[in-house]
Amino acid sequence: MSVHAALVERMAREVDFISGLTGSEPGLLELVHAQGAALHFHGQTTVLGAAPSDEQLAGLLAWLGTRHDEEVFVTDRLSSEYPEAKDFQDVASGLIAASMSRGRNNYVLWFRPEVVQTVDWGGNPTKPVEMEEGQLRLHPRKSFELWKETVRGRSLPWKPYEVEAAAELRRSIIDVALQRSEALLKLNTELERSNVELDAFAYAASHDLKEPLRGIHNYTLLALREAGEVLPPTPRARLDTVVRLTQRMEGLINSLLHYAQVGRMELSLRETNVNEVVAQVLELLKPRLEEARVEVRIPRPLPSAWCDRVRLAEVFTNLITNALKYNDKAERWVELGAVPDGDEARVAYYVRDNGIGIKPEYHEAIFRIFKRLHGRDRYGGGTGTGLTIVKRIIERHNGHVWLESTPGEGTTFYFTLAVEPPGREGAGE
Ligand code: ADP
Repeated sequence: MSVHAALVERMAREVDFISGLTGSEPGLLELVHAQGAALHFHGQTTVLGAAPSDEQLAGLLAWLGTRHDEEVFVTDRLSSEYPEAKDFQDVASGLIAASMSRGRNNYVLWFRPEVVQTVDWGGNPTKPVEMEEGQLRLHPRKSFELWKETVRGRSLPWKPYEVEAAAELRRSIIDVALQRSEALLKLNTELERSNVELDAFAYAASHDLKEPLRGIHNYTLLALREAGEVLPPTPRARLDTVVRLTQRMEGLINSLLHYAQVGRMELSLRETNVNEVVAQVLELLKPRLEEARVEVRIPRPLPSAWCDRVRLAEVFTNLITNALKYNDKAERWVELGAVPDGDEARVAYYVRDNGIGIKPEYHEAIFRIFKRLHGRDRYGGGTGTGLTIVKRIIERHNGHVWLESTPGEGTTFYFTLAVEPPGREGAGE
């Protein structure tokens, strides 16, 4: 099998095609007879053999990124075009740079050392070699020193078939990457469809469950009304419990219905003034906040977001309600704010409290539907769906939710939202 065929086969087999390219020999280096190579994909660099340092590579990649003109750039004298390469001409006087995508700075680079480093003199510097029309020639009349000057900063020239091998591998990598992104797209579409079906199922099921439940509730109430007086205390207490349980079950079903609805509904995305949304939520929660004597702190105005205003209000309502419920301090407070996210196009809002905190082992479980960490009636009760819905709303906005907490001291919930409509950032690429 040719080196090319072996590389393509390994690339297609490995989950991560970079390890397919760098995994075994004969491989990338043998393909074009290079002494070193570097793969730069999505900001990650992998190096093989003799290559410039990370810093030198970063400089070289940045320079290549400004050229934009060819798919495969070839030189056996890099420093004559890129003077900074003098610093590493011992390893990379020769370069083949195969660009994988326009404007993205994804490259496969091959390096050849300066020819002085590679020629074996056989201990006889009176029989030097020199470059003539790209070929190495023995040239006995010239001195070693003179020869060294003529080939300073040059590598052995790349042969046309080696350059063609690099170009062919470039096409194969692009093909494999394209196939992968198509497969991923298909998988995503299927996943979305099955999610939609699941939501439709949950919606229909919970809707239909409510009717018989209402029947149980009403008939029990009727029986109590008609025969309550004559029933002995124990059976009467049992029927009272049935009424309470059906009410609780209706609460759970309503939460499930709402959860399914949040998954199905169209979001109405707009540039949203988050300060206004928070002000509305606080107005509605005012009686509960006053009753629980919770001080609300907003140290700085909140930045705007690109989101569904009504759903965002629901997120804040759930988080602020939790902040006031799960707090046993004498002086309670909740702080609302925003911090930069790692991604410039997003902002991370937070809701912080000085409440009871959440142990690290529950940080995932609390987002599961109906999951509660406390007895049914402690901390004001609840159905255990608030955080599940918060997570679903934020994920439908392509954001994510996480928390930091110190048990006994308090919790901070974070969620990210886009600051601008998609497409505005990165435009012009
Ligand atoms: P609910 O409040 O109805 O129980 P949630 O989904 O909103 O449901 O919360 C799930 C669980 O996570 C709660 O039962 C509680 O134990 C815990 N929790 C949520 N928010 C906080 C908070 N701010 N501080 C401490 N615990 C919390």
